[in-house]
Formats: sequence, C-alpha cells, structure tokens
Amino acid sequence: MSSSILDKYELVIGLEVHAQLKTKTKLFCACSTEFGTDQNSNVCPICLGLPGVLPVLNENALNLALKAALALNCQINLESKFDRKQYFYPDLPKGYQISQFDLPIAEWGTLKLPDGTSPRIRRVHMEEDAGKLVHAGADRLHGSAYSLVDINRAGTPLIEIVSEPDIFTAEQAKLYVQELRLLLIYCDVCDGNLEEGSMRCDINISLKPKGSDKLGTRAEIKNVNSFRSILRAIEYEIERQGEILEEGGKIVQETRLWEENKGCTFSMRSKEEANDYRYFPEPDLKPIILKAEQIENTKASLPLLPAQKRDIYLNKYNLNSEEAYILVEDYERGLFFDQCTQLFDNPKKIAGWLNGPIAAYLKEEKLGFFETKLKPSVLAETLKIVEAGLISESSAKKDLLSELFISDLSPSEICEQKGLKQISDEGAILSEIKALTEEFAGQFKELKEGKDKMRSFFVGQAMKKFKGKASPPLVNKLLDELIKEV
Ligand code: ADP
Ligand code: MG
Ligand code: ZN
Repeated sequence: MSSSILDKYELVIGLEVHAQLKTKTKLFCACSTEFGTDQNSNVCPICLGLPGVLPVLNENALNLALKAALALNCQINLESKFDRKQYFYPDLPKGYQISQFDLPIAEWGTLKLPDGTSPRIRRVHMEEDAGKLVHAGADRLHGSAYSLVDINRAGTPLIEIVSEPDIFTAEQAKLYVQELRLLLIYCDVCDGNLEEGSMRCDINISLKPKGSDKLGTRAEIKNVNSFRSILRAIEYEIERQGEILEEGGKIVQETRLWEENKGCTFSMRSKEEANDYRYFPEPDLKPIILKAEQIENTKASLPLLPAQKRDIYLNKYNLNSEEAYILVEDYERGLFFDQCTQLFDNPKKIAGWLNGPIAAYLKEEKLGFFETKLKPSVLAETLKIVEAGLISESSAKKDLLSELFISDLSPSEICEQKGLKQISDEGAILSEIKALTEEFAGQFKELKEGKDKMRSFFVGQAMKKFKGKASPPLVNKLLDELIKEV
C-alpha cells in the first residue's frame, strides 16, 4: 500500500534519540541510577526538586557525553551551558527539566551506516530524564482509574542525539538507530537496553511531492521502543499522511504517540514551539568549559567503532560481510573473537567456530559468550591442537566442544581422557602404510605411475587401520615419501 504513496511522494525522516548515560549516579545528585529498584527509593531533595537545593554536575556524565559526541564526529563546543526547559507534568517535580538549549555540548557530526549512507547529526546535548507515571488499569492517563508517580528516573543522565532530516526510508531509520546503539555500546556510554528504556527514539516524519526540494510538514512520533516498531510506525505514518495529502488536506504539525498494541499513532498534542518552554540559562550551574587537551585525550581513548571493526574484519582478516556483520553486531561475540585472534592466527577459522557450533550451543543454552568454561584461550588452544593434528577438526567439533563448555580440563587433557587423540607417531603410521603398499602392490604401482586416484584408496585404507585417528595430512605426507623413495 505504502509503495503507491511512495510513487508520488518522498519520505523524509529525522530522528531524535535519547540515550541513558552509563553512570552509577544521577546527573545532578548522588542518587543511584539502578534499574528496577522499589518505587521512589532512589530520590533525594535535589531530584525531588525541593526548594533551596543546588544541583552539582556529574563529571562522569560529562565525560561520557563528550565521548559519544566525538565518536559521532561532532564539533565540540568549548563552552556550553545548561538551560531550564519549563513545562508542567506530574512526573516533573521541579516544574522544569535541566537541558541544553542554544549551546549544546556538540554539533554537526555524522553517523556512517553499513548501507554506505552517512546521515548528519545536528546536535548532541545533555539533559536529565523525568520521572514516570504508572497508570492504574490503562496504558496511559486516559482511561485509567488513577495514576501513581515514581521519581526514581528523575535526574537520570541522558544525551539527546538529533539527526538532520537525512533519512529517506524506514529501513534506513532502523539501521540508523541500530548503528547508533552499537556505537554507544562500543564506547561504553550507554547499555543500549531498549526494553529498560535506556534508549528511546522519537521519529519525525514528513512527505513531500517527488522532486520537490521543500520539506513537507512533519509529525513527531513518540514512544517507539523496538526496532520492529520503528518500521511499523513509519509505515503507518506514510499511509496516514499520504491519505491526507491525496485528499487535498494539510498535515498538522503535531506530536503523536505510537500505540504498539493497536499498530497506529494518535495525536497527543499540537507541536509546541521552543518559546512555549520559556527556556532560560540554568542559574544554579556554571557553564561547561572544556579544554582542548581534555577533548584530545577523550578522542585518543575512543575504542574501535563498529564501522572500523567491520572494515578490519573484511579487509584485514578477509572475513565475508555476513561474518563481519554478525561479529560486530554482538559486542561480546566480537570481543571473544578479538581475544582469540590474539592467541591463534587464523581469524577465518575462529569466525567459523564462533558463528557456527559455538553460537548454536550458547543460543540453545541461553548463555553469553563469556558465560561458559570455553574462554578465548581455550578455543585458541583447541584450534592449535587441531592444527597440529592431535585431533581432527570434525571430531573436535563433534566430541570435544561439548566438554569444553563445562570442563575445567584443558583441551588436550579431555582428548586424552576421552580417547580422542589422533595417532601422531610417524614411525607407527609409516610402517603401516608400507605394509599396505606391499599388500596392494598393483595399486601402489599405478599411484607411482601418476594415477592419483589411487591416493584416496590408500588414505582410506590407512584411516580404516587407525579407526579414523590418523591425521590425513600426515598419511599423505608419508605416502609421498614412499612414492619418491623408489
Ligand atoms: P524540534 O526541536 O522542535 O523538535 P527540530 O527542527 O530541531 O525541531 O527538528 C527535530 C527533528 O526533526 C530533527 O531530527 C530534524 O531532522 C527533524 N525534522 C525537521 N524537519 C523535518 C521534516 N520536515 N521532515 C522530517 N523530519 C524533520
Ligand atoms: Mg523534538
Ligand atoms: Zn537525587
């Protein structure tokens, strides 16, 4: 359906993402930011907004905000400040939110996406979260019997990352949020937990006639909390706005709420303008002054970002794009992989094991990559003994791996104990092969005359003799020596 609307109109999207900074305490007081504690247990006079108290900026939150802004290639403002954004709502005890208005910590960055596009970032600013209303008997205030206020979240440090309207499909919007989430996780700035509300995203959507360079009027969609609902909410808006435009109507600039269960958006309030908030500089906090040196140090401390990692995996390690994508998408898996490549120099082989049998086992057992006895060093050790011919790869995957997840023994100790070791005694294998070449003298003659088909015959016979526990490369090598001998 939306495809017919998109024949005539172009979709334009700008995203505002709120990410909770990974601090132990709140932005302006010492209360804990822990999730899931009893209602109103993490509160104090400051985050309750009692009169006469003074906020003090959490330095760690400032550092994390700076880190995120640098990872997004932003220009950092050496001087920025906090402002009061005033509105009334029962979850906002102070009657205003401390945010940054005209002088945010950072502006003008980009986020490079795996599809090759790089939407621009307009600004990154710091602000505190509000509290939470719990509505009895309904999802929202409307229709509920009564509502309770939980102030635990009030004062939680957030950054808001605002994109330019540079996103043109629902898929790209999803990719943008996914990549932003990964980047923040890699920088250790945000835990990226959408279910717990650590990341929330507002989607600004408009349509304009194809080819027009004037942006259409937008609606802002709030309460979109999963990657799937990003796609659904955008699809829904394309339909809704398209229908209005097709009937000759005008889009109202407004804030709409995504209703997950009904799969639709509904109007929440008409769009407020900045001057509705009566912003003014927060008088209780000093301006934030950053030194060039601090910025340089933070920049130097940035880890490899997801896009850089994909690049290394593809171009230096020669992984294919699917392998690279999977390893980067799952932070723990990528970390496991990196640690293992430090110990065993065959990234392709490690990726095969991690993405194949290891991932399958962990998924089945619902365990993380660092939650079993199979540490990166154990996997590296295993791959080394496979390479050395101590055990065949297929037997290692089939018989050894399941033990490695749960055993305290080393890979070779387990092989010993379970009788998985290949015979590596060259002398014993050589005399056996020699006996075979005598037993099957005719076939051996043919092999020597260049009939290479006979090679698999002899390897097969040897494997039979050793019940599969001779290393095929070793058998081949010894066979070659015998061929050359005469
Ligand atoms: P406000 O601060 O009032 O929400 P902004 O102009 O700062 O408004 O824009 C907020 C977000 O909306 C930004 O991500 C921006 O890219 C996006 N946006 C602005 N105009 C449009 C439009 N016509 N269509 C889609 N997105 C838009
Ligand atoms: Mg907005
Ligand atoms: Zn507090």
